[in-house]
Amino acid sequence: MATPDVDNLPYADGDFYAFEDLLTDKERDRLHEIRAWLGTHVKPHAAQWWNDAEFPAHMVPELAELDVVSPVYRQGYSNLFAGLCHAEFTRADTSFATFMGVHDGLFTGSIEALASEEQKAAWLPDIYALKKIGAFGLTEPLGGSDVAGGLRTTARRDGDSWILNGEKRWIGNATWSDWVIIYARDVDTNQVKGFLVDTATEGYTATKIENKIALRTVQNADIKLENVRISDDFHLKGANTFKDVNKVLKVTRLAVAWQAVGQQMAAFDIARRYAVERTQFGKPLASFQLIQEQLVKILGNTVSSMGMMVRLAQLEDLGRAKDEQSALAKAFTTARMRESVALGRSILGGNGIVTDYGMAKVFADAEAIYSYEGTYEVNTLVTGRAITGVAAFV
Ligand SMILES: Cc1cc2nc3c(=O)[nH]c(=O)nc-3n(C[C@H](O)[C@H](O)[C@H](O)COP(=O)(O)OP(=O)(O)OC[C@H]3O[C@@H](n4cnc5c(N)ncnc54)[C@H](O)[C@@H]3O)c2cc1C
Repeated sequence: MATPDVDNLPYADGDFYAFEDLLTDKERDRLHEIRAWLGTHVKPHAAQWWNDAEFPAHMVPELAELDVVSPVYRQGYSNLFAGLCHAEFTRADTSFATFMGVHDGLFTGSIEALASEEQKAAWLPDIYALKKIGAFGLTEPLGGSDVAGGLRTTARRDGDSWILNGEKRWIGNATWSDWVIIYARDVDTNQVKGFLVDTATEGYTATKIENKIALRTVQNADIKLENVRISDDFHLKGANTFKDVNKVLKVTRLAVAWQAVGQQMAAFDIARRYAVERTQFGKPLASFQLIQEQLVKILGNTVSSMGMMVRLAQLEDLGRAKDEQSALAKAFTTARMRESVALGRSILGGNGIVTDYGMAKVFADAEAIYSYEGTYEVNTLVTGRAITGVAAFV
C-alpha cells in the first residue's frame, strides 16, 4: 500500500471546519506570518528546551520583532484572532505559549485593565516591546483554588509607601522577569490590592521550582516577600478588590482554553503523521480501523473545542462574554484535551513517551493546562453555580 504524503492531504490541520476563514484577510495573513515564524524559530528547538528545563531568553529580541504583545487592546485585532494565535503558539510549543500567556495575558492584562492612564503610559511601551518581562503573582503556597477567599500575603500602608510581606507559589517567568504584579491583602481594609514590584527590590526573592513533569521550558518560582517597600506610585490604581483581579482572569481563562485547542491541534498533527508514516503488519497504522477511530476522536474533540472558543471570542468582541462562560470553556476544552493527548500518545506507542517524537511533550504539558487558571473542578463549580443558583463552594 502506497504511503500518502501527509503534507498534501486535503486537510492541512485540525481546523476541520475552517474556522480560520472567519478572520479578516489582514488577520489571516498575520496569523500565517506568526505560524511561519513559530515553525522556524520555536518548533524545531522546543523539545531540546523542554529537556534542558531552561527558558530560551535569547529568543526574546526576535520575538519582540514579531510584535505580538497585546493584539486586541493595543493592535485592535479581534478576540478570534488573538485566540487562534494562542492556539498557534501552543501548537508550536506549549511552554512558549505559556511564557506569552503570563507576560501578555496575566501581567500586561493586569496593567491594561487595572492601572491608571498615567501608569499605563509609563510602563506599557517597554512591556509591549518586551524590554521589560513580567510575571503575575496571585497563587500562594497555602492558597490555590481558594485564593479568592483570602490572601495571606499582606500590604501595609506606611506613608507614601506600602510594605509587602508573604509568599507566592508557581509564579511563571518570575525567576528572571524584571517585574511582577503582586496581589496582596490590605491589612486595613481586608481587600485585595495589586502592586507592580521590581524584582530587584530589597526583600524580594524568587527560587526556581525544579523537577516539573510539565511545561519544563517555562520557569515557575516560589517567591518570598520580606518587608518589600513599594512606592504608592506602583499600586495599580484600579486593583482594589478581588473582583478587579477577576476582570483579568476572565480573559486569561479564555486564553488557556485556546491553549487546550492548540494542544489538540498539535496532538492531531503528530498522531496523524505518525499513523500515516509508521507501518506495522506490513501496512500503515492509519489503515487499521481502530487507529482511524482514535484519530477521528482527537479531531472531533479539537473541532468541538474550537467551535466553542470561536463563539466565545465573538461574545468577547461584543462585550457579552460572562465569567461562567469562560469557566465552562476552560473546563470543557481541557477535559477534551486530556483525552486527545492520551489518544495521541497511544498512537505513537513506545515512541509516545520520549520527547524526540513530539507527542510526549504535548501529553505532559496538558497536565499543567488542566490545573492552572482555575482547575477543571473549580471551573466546573463556577459554571454549576451559574446554572443552578447554588454555590457548591464558598
Ligand atoms: C505550571 C503552572 C503555572 C502556574 N502559573 C501561575 C502564575 O503565573 N501565577 C499564579 O498566580 N499562579 C500560577 N499557577 C497556579 C495555579 O493557578 C494553581 O495551581 C491552581 O489555581 C490550583 O491551585 P493548587 O495547585 O493550589 O491546587 P489546590 O487548590 O490545592 O487543589 C488541589 C485539587 O483539589 C481540587 N479542589 C480544590 N477545591 C475544590 C472544591 N471546592 N471542590 C472540588 N475540588 C476541589 C482541585 O480542583 C485540585 O484537583 C500555576 C500553576 C502551574 C501548575
